[in-house]
Amino acid sequence: MKANGRIDPPAQMTGAPSRRLFAALAGAGITARFVGGCVRNAVLRSAIDDLDVAVDKPPQDVMRALEAAGIKVVPTGLKHGTVTAIANSVVFELTTLRRDVETDGRRAVVAFTDDWLEDASRRDFTFNALYADPDGTLYDPFEGRADLAAGRVRFIGDPDTRIAEDRLRVLRFFRFHAWYGRPPIHGASYQACARNAGTLGSLSGERVRKELLRTLEAPGAADALDAMREAGVLDRWLPEYEGSSRLRALAGREDQPDGLRRLAAILRADADPVAIGKRLRLSTQEALRLEVMLAREPAMDIAGGERAWRAGIYRLGNGLYADRLLLAIDAPGDWRAALALARRWTPPELPVSGGDALKLGLEPGPKVGALIAAVERWWIDGDFAADRAACLAELERLTRGMNGA
Ligand code: ATP
Ligand code: MG
Repeated sequence: MKANGRIDPPAQMTGAPSRRLFAALAGAGITARFVGGCVRNAVLRSAIDDLDVAVDKPPQDVMRALEAAGIKVVPTGLKHGTVTAIANSVVFELTTLRRDVETDGRRAVVAFTDDWLEDASRRDFTFNALYADPDGTLYDPFEGRADLAAGRVRFIGDPDTRIAEDRLRVLRFFRFHAWYGRPPIHGASYQACARNAGTLGSLSGERVRKELLRTLEAPGAADALDAMREAGVLDRWLPEYEGSSRLRALAGREDQPDGLRRLAAILRADADPVAIGKRLRLSTQEALRLEVMLAREPAMDIAGGERAWRAGIYRLGNGLYADRLLLAIDAPGDWRAALALARRWTPPELPVSGGDALKLGLEPGPKVGALIAAVERWWIDGDFAADRAACLAELERLTRGMNGA
């Protein structure tokens, strides 16, 4: 594989931890190059999260070389050729060059190789098969840089074959399109995804969930989701998809994209959050959040002004209230001011409790809960102005009324 370009390497590639790592490997006769997302993002000058490194020797050799240099190394996935190195507290994931021996649409049996082009050929999209030396020398065997510049997500090799090897690539196609793509979508790649949409049932809920949420977080999520629906990719995993118009409106409101909130924005009003939570393996907490985001009650009274906002924040909690607010696209009122309040105001705690009711001589039981709830409603209706003494007085009044009845 020949070098055919140059990037301005980011600090993560040129810094002391990287230099130390690459020197240790070179000292043992191992050639290493940054690969995948970190090189792609370096080309784009966007943020880099994972530092993936490809190496041309088996993992045992890599481990030995790093240990000899005093670099901490963890055998995270020896069978797949992956070890994790920690140099000066910076984490690098090192994977031996591989080629596929056998594929079954999900998991591949791989063999190690020292052929860089073989390793590049088994990667999914042209701009994901970029390699770079720490000095910025670039290896781009499939014209990935041109595709990246054009916003074109393109399979390496024949798209149908690549999808047959690993069906997850259909979802990855739309995810990368959402992040890095621009219209027009690459026709041959898209059509292959559409042809294979019916085979996605064999994927696991976990993997679909991860791809879907990362797609939703992307700047181009709305267009990507519409393309996914058109390709039939959502039929099996998200038949509740309603369309992207609420997502588009939500994206204009958010200052930070949130995958789960965006999921709530694309679902039909009658979608069952419990079923979706199960299908997409959401955690209990996530499923509950989705349920609250989709619930019609309590209705969002944004036009009601600060009093209504405070009542809502108290009932739902700051985070969920903000979620509901951002999602209440058609509700009239100053949602920006309401959101600002949800960000800065901490709701007070109800100054009375069941214990106070018992002190008034009430028997423990459901009546106590009902009374406290009544005081709470009164306290909220009064915009939380009543202090403990006033709440106790109201509790007494209600208790007397009840006993009198
Ligand atoms: P991100 O920034 O979203 O993590 P990434 O490019 O690092 O993007 P990963 O899913 O972390 O994506 O994978 C790292 C690299 O491994 C990819 O760039 C690609 O070269 C390769 N790869 C990952 N999954 C597959 C797959 N299913 N099929 C082929 N190649 C893959
Ligand atoms: Mg990555």
